[in-house]
Amino acid sequence: LIELRGVNKHYGALHVLQDIHLTVGRGEVVVVIGPSGSGKSTLCRAMNRLEAVESGEIRIDGQPLPEEGKALAKLRAEVGMVFQSFNLFAHKTVLANVSLAQVKVRKRGKDEADRRSRELLDRVGLAAHADKFPAQLSGGQQQRVAIARALAMDPKALLFDEPTSALDPEMINEVLEVMRQLAQEGMTMVVVTHEMGFARSAANRVVFMADGRIVEDREPEAFFTTPNSDRAKDFLSKIL
Ligand code: ATP
Ligand code: MG
Repeated sequence: LIELRGVNKHYGALHVLQDIHLTVGRGEVVVVIGPSGSGKSTLCRAMNRLEAVESGEIRIDGQPLPEEGKALAKLRAEVGMVFQSFNLFAHKTVLANVSLAQVKVRKRGKDEADRRSRELLDRVGLAAHADKFPAQLSGGQQQRVAIARALAMDPKALLFDEPTSALDPEMINEVLEVMRQLAQEGMTMVVVTHEMGFARSAANRVVFMADGRIVEDREPEAFFTTPNSDRAKDFLSKIL
């Protein structure tokens, strides 16, 4: 579903993505880990063209990424992204946050959008909070709203960039639980995270990045028990 071939990007002299080859099949869950600055966020953002790349091919469902306009907006709906900072509209209700892009991008009527939003809020356990404002919710609840909002676009895939890093420990699990559920339902997901329990239990593959390169791309159990590279061994010894 998602294919990157020979992708390169620099920030000035920094070669932040170096000859990246990565395929994410339909229904696959790929967890991306690696040291700070290794290029995980840049990789994620390249997949729905929040960042342009310099060379190489990125295809979604066989199609090259569109560069601008309506096609790009549609791509970003189909390859949704959930960020560390939830990026909700503070002055809109939870319901409106989930409905807005359905009307603007998916061209649904407001009633239909609101109906769908309530279904999705129910699914992430927030049916009772539809009429509140984001500031009235906990971080974990806000992140679940952000996930519902992404789901409302009927995405082909979802990208998560450290979705639980800004959360207090007691709220991390409620968000990971929603993500596990999505994984079980067959959603294609790329997840940058430091939650190794999630990687072990929910991922089909772990991609380990260092210095802009994919150093390992393997099944979680194999990666965690017998990392091949010194970089991965070093990284795991620090976090596990
Ligand atoms: P972290 O774990 O800290 O989130 P990361 O693996 O997500 O790190 P990236 O955010 O992809 O890393 O950044 C990779 C490198 O590119 C870093 O050295 C970062 O400083 C640099 N970088 C990222 N964005 C920009 C930018 N807009 N301009 C210049 N340099 C950037
Ligand atoms: Mg990052």
